[in-house]
Amino acid sequence: MRTYDYLIVGAGFFGSVLAERIANDLGKTVLVIDRRPHIGGNCYSETDQETGIEFHQYGTHIFHTSSQKVWQYISQFTDFNGYHHQVLTTHKNRVFQMPINLETINTFYGLNLRPYQVEDFLRAEIAKENIGNPQNLEEKAIALIGRPLYEAFIREYTIKQWNQDPKKLPVNIINRLPIRCSYNEDYFLDARWQGIPLEGYTKLFERLLNSANIDVETNCDYFEVRNELKYDKKLIYTGPIDRFFDYELGPLEWRSIELSKEVIEVEDYQGTSVMNYADLEQPYTRIHEPRHLHLERRYSKRKTLIFYETSKQAEGIDPFYPVSSEKNKNTLEKYKSMAKQVKNVVIGGRLGDYAYYDMDKAIAAALACYEKTIAKNQ
Ligand SMILES: Cc1cc2nc3c(=O)[nH]c(=O)nc-3n(C[C@H](O)[C@H](O)[C@H](O)COP(=O)(O)OP(=O)(O)OC[C@H]3O[C@@H](n4cnc5c(N)ncnc54)[C@H](O)[C@@H]3O)c2cc1C
Repeated sequence: MRTYDYLIVGAGFFGSVLAERIANDLGKTVLVIDRRPHIGGNCYSETDQETGIEFHQYGTHIFHTSSQKVWQYISQFTDFNGYHHQVLTTHKNRVFQMPINLETINTFYGLNLRPYQVEDFLRAEIAKENIGNPQNLEEKAIALIGRPLYEAFIREYTIKQWNQDPKKLPVNIINRLPIRCSYNEDYFLDARWQGIPLEGYTKLFERLLNSANIDVETNCDYFEVRNELKYDKKLIYTGPIDRFFDYELGPLEWRSIELSKEVIEVEDYQGTSVMNYADLEQPYTRIHEPRHLHLERRYSKRKTLIFYETSKQAEGIDPFYPVSSEKNKNTLEKYKSMAKQVKNVVIGGRLGDYAYYDMDKAIAAALACYEKTIAKNQ
């Protein structure tokens, strides 16, 4: 077996960006392995055979960033289309804009408030409950936006997401609930750049990993092959941190999602890429319709593709979202101290850090890791 300078576990953004830098900037050899049958990690995209529509297998991914460094780096590997994300939510069979903005408030209350009147209006709504020191998620949300908006848009959606009564969820799950006092519906309002890779995410990952210094093996679980793999310098591990230490301190808790696919014989099912469902009446949290991500493409006019998203405990399925609790925070701190003691191993990425990262943050973290830890120690 060939000996490599570096072994990278995980072909998501964190692992692939590091592989690209090590191979092309340092000129060292890298073996990238992933236990899934494909590269790209959670951002993986593929084309549905029946409809010809490209979809994101692990949920709709919209690239957005305000980091010039990340934008310049990633733009070497792909162009982006001009997609701007908008989120809508269905409540009692009516559609509202998210996050809550002037249109949401005016439609919901049957008002015609001006932007400068929103603050006073919400203050009066919040004052009706008089919650001084919120003790749980429900009280916190009511203290931020008042009861009617909370009950319409937050309460049942949160129950579906976390499978828990918001009264039992910790207050620190939300710090703020963004309210926009304008009609602006751009979901990533602060992002200087956003879009979807013109040729899809998988093509972008193929280009990142396209180097004579990089070999890739998919369907390859690190824990099944770790004793056979040969590398000289460093292991870069982007899987779950608790798994790396064989759950010595117990497992960390994760939430996950399940997506179930349906082909529908109409050109356009819902008129947008992501529709949230705020009520318990529908068991799913969202419906994704990926054709709307690529308005520049000519997809079939006869069929469309949708995915129902349901929130799940991550047992037996891929972990997606860390669960914010004191217990998990304490366990993570201990695992992180253990990680510091292990020589020649970098543990990172969203699974390694037990954190939610947007794609640009995962890329930024990989670039920083390369500059501060890998390139410096050559
Ligand atoms: C539902 C959902 C929607 C999202 N939408 C957006 C969005 O719209 N915009 C945005 O910016 N970000 C979004 N994200 C975040 C985005 O997915 C992450 O930023 C990105 O995936 C992080 O990359 P990563 O390399 O850290 O992790 P991953 O992409 O998860 O890569 C880690 C890889 O390690 C592999 N691995 C784990 N264990 C092993 C093992 N033992 N052996 C071999 N391989 C292993 C996994 O199979 C995986 O492929 C979303 C995330 C989720 C969950």
